[in-house]
Amino acid sequence: MIPFVIFLLGLCVGSFLNVAIFRIHEGGSVVRGRSKCQTCEEPISARDLVPVLSFLILKGRCRKCQSVLSWQYPIVELVTGGLFLLAFQRDGLSLTFVRDCVFLSYLIIIFVYDLRHMLIIDRFTIPAMIFAIIVNLWLGIVPAWSILVGGLVLAAFFWIQFLVSRGTWVGGGDIRMGALMGFMLGLEQGLVALFIAYLLGAIVGVGLLVSGKANRKTPIPFGTFLATASVVVLFVGEPIVRWYLGLFV
Ligand SMILES: [Zn+2]
Repeated sequence: MIPFVIFLLGLCVGSFLNVAIFRIHEGGSVVRGRSKCQTCEEPISARDLVPVLSFLILKGRCRKCQSVLSWQYPIVELVTGGLFLLAFQRDGLSLTFVRDCVFLSYLIIIFVYDLRHMLIIDRFTIPAMIFAIIVNLWLGIVPAWSILVGGLVLAAFFWIQFLVSRGTWVGGGDIRMGALMGFMLGLEQGLVALFIAYLLGAIVGVGLLVSGKANRKTPIPFGTFLATASVVVLFVGEPIVRWYLGLFV
């Protein structure tokens, strides 16, 4: 029963994340006002706001004008539900579970926003950083030095690239994202996440080049890879670090 409730909670949070992504891009308030169809501007009634189900019942179209709704809505809802469930399987009902759900929510929002708009914005990374520092110091899951040094090292990694390339390789958003990853995951796991992000970026980049869907000048939403890698490391970072250190002992 509890896993089912956690999944439903995840669906609802995913639904909220969708609204936040859309409204922040439009420059509006996240909490005030009713959601409207993006084409005909008809306010969406409560019965059409049920996560995933409404999308299926409406066959992915607006009830009034029949314009096609974005697949982003059900996908983000399902992914959020699934990840919350995974976190619950590992953490049980604990403060670590709450921490992981907040981390996951921020990472999902950063993933989608960067994919859609090619931007990692401070409105997500700064509050997430403050939350990560406070909750990690408080819960003591990651050693304090590792959190603080991790944030500094990963931010410096992007900051140096920013200086060398005069802001052409990476942007200020990447520097803040680096800091966030360090504060969330600590130094060791943060570095693992960085490595996985570059690996994923290379695989997807080569795939797009080979399939002719992109050329060398096509910009890559790197925040999307950084967020994906952070989610992976949030779940399996510990065994990876243990395995890696085990190679040298
Ligand atoms: Zn409409």
